[in-house]
Amino acid sequence: MTEQRRTNRTWPVVGHDWAVEILARSVVSGRVSHAYLFSGPPQIGKTTLARAFAQAINCTGAEPPCGVCRSCHRIASGIHPDVRIVQAEGSSIKINQIRELQREAALSPVEGRRRVYIIRQIELATTEAANCLLKTLEEPSARVILILTTSDRDALLPTIVSRCQILTLHPLPIEQVQEVLVERGVDEEQARLLARLSTGRLGWAISAASDPAPLRQRQQRLDEMTALAGQGRVERFAYAARLSRNPDTVRQTLDLWLSWWRDLLLLTSGSAVEITNLDRQAELENAARCYSLDQVYNTIVALRRAVWQLEHNANPRLLLENLMLHWPSAQSA
Ligand SMILES: [Zn+2]
Repeated sequence: MTEQRRTNRTWPVVGHDWAVEILARSVVSGRVSHAYLFSGPPQIGKTTLARAFAQAINCTGAEPPCGVCRSCHRIASGIHPDVRIVQAEGSSIKINQIRELQREAALSPVEGRRRVYIIRQIELATTEAANCLLKTLEEPSARVILILTTSDRDALLPTIVSRCQILTLHPLPIEQVQEVLVERGVDEEQARLLARLSTGRLGWAISAASDPAPLRQRQQRLDEMTALAGQGRVERFAYAARLSRNPDTVRQTLDLWLSWWRDLLLLTSGSAVEITNLDRQAELENAARCYSLDQVYNTIVALRRAVWQLEHNANPRLLLENLMLHWPSAQSA
């Protein structure tokens, strides 16, 4: 594993070795495509990889990306005039952002070899912006490289996807995330927990290590969920109403609940696989004595169905209420 990680040691990227290999080879051989799509779950390292690629393309050192030349430095600090990150302003990427990109892309690079535009979360582009971008993709310039990132490839226009070289990134092994956290000074136990909760998304793990807010919110959501078992319909419906007031967090909450119930399934079925929510092990072991395997299984199915409905634009409050109606009650141990 350690040996393997040393491939392309100069790339400031953890994991995704195969992708680094492909990109490094394209730089060395001078056969860089004009457009890429880096696809994969949020906070998995797509932008980090894109930035490293931009460094490799514009590096003036012997072994690109050297990390020490002026170009590598400026790209790492986000101040290189030829490397730009474009992302949603408010909730979407707007057409004026793409037009501005096109105006600038028509000019020669200021100091690098090529202009590189990293457009994050391209799924957030409005239809007008996406159609406008299509023009740039259809008439590529030798001096411009577009790197689009997305965590929702299915939401993109097929005409955009078909014009890009696609690299699909996968979560890193949990042990690798844990190792990186420990290297960065996170204590062992916390690193083990964060690595598990990250499900292999290194960016998430690193930000959760320094910002306690997401973990605090996770605890709160799990506490609220475990309290549901002892609540009547009125309280549960009131909770569904409160939770659905912020639709953005509903998906996250359902995923979190699913991870808890999956852990419970592991415990009730006597599996040897390690659970994810390590810090709630005692609570889960207790719950394993209060729910039948059927109840656990049915709850997982109901949660999955709710996630599916949410993805298909169902009303969050209605689907939460439906979930609450069938929420299992714990039997005393
Ligand atoms: Zn360099």
